[in-house]
Amino acid sequence: MQKQFTFRFYSILNDFLNNNQKQKSFKVTFKTPVTVRECIMAFRIPVFEIGKLLINGNPANLNTELNEHDRISIYPHFRTIYEEGQNLEYKFVLDAHLGKLSRYLRMLGFDTLYKNDYLDEEIRQIASTEKRIVLTRDKLIKNTPDPAYYYVRSTEKHQQLREVVNFWGLTHHIQPFTRCMTCNSPLSKVQVEQVRDKLDNDIADRFDEFYICKKCDKVFWKGSHFKRMEKQILDLIQSHGK
Ligand SMILES: [Zn+2]
Repeated sequence: MQKQFTFRFYSILNDFLNNNQKQKSFKVTFKTPVTVRECIMAFRIPVFEIGKLLINGNPANLNTELNEHDRISIYPHFRTIYEEGQNLEYKFVLDAHLGKLSRYLRMLGFDTLYKNDYLDEEIRQIASTEKRIVLTRDKLIKNTPDPAYYYVRSTEKHQQLREVVNFWGLTHHIQPFTRCMTCNSPLSKVQVEQVRDKLDNDIADRFDEFYICKKCDKVFWKGSHFKRMEKQILDLIQSHGK
């Protein structure tokens, strides 16, 4: 049997809705019986981003079955949950779709784990034991609310970085050239003489700041790639910093 319900999604949950559903109440008909969880999934909203639910003004949960004409208000997790409740540091674990973003986050100095073949369960374990924030492009990765999980909206790598830096308020925690982009280990500053044998001559002569990853032996310097990145970081800080 079909029944009609009224939904209102708040804050960042509107990102997932069609334009005619954003920032307002709207009516939808579902085949019943139906739970709140099933409705949210039908809207293609990742359930892990749901914070609080009210049905007709009363607290409810995802497994609540809806009755005709129910009014459902759905809120995301609030930032204070991350910052105070769980005392999370800005450490991340990324799923298979976010390899490029992982390199950028490391370039900004953030401790970022990434493998292109993590299993959902592995990510869950790492997030909970190491208190890491999960960034994912998989709406179904976990079917229960969890403030440590965040669905990255953008698909383009620079926009993804901008989105994550803004959402998590990372601008004041950026420490470029402290972490290896390849393996996530800390970098050490070195004199050019110490790494000259690993560099082309023109690089060794043109630059004066070098950093080495003691784990994978890669050498980094502030070349054109870094300059572009530095400009993007400055743009980020200027447009969103306080
Ligand atoms: Zn390394």
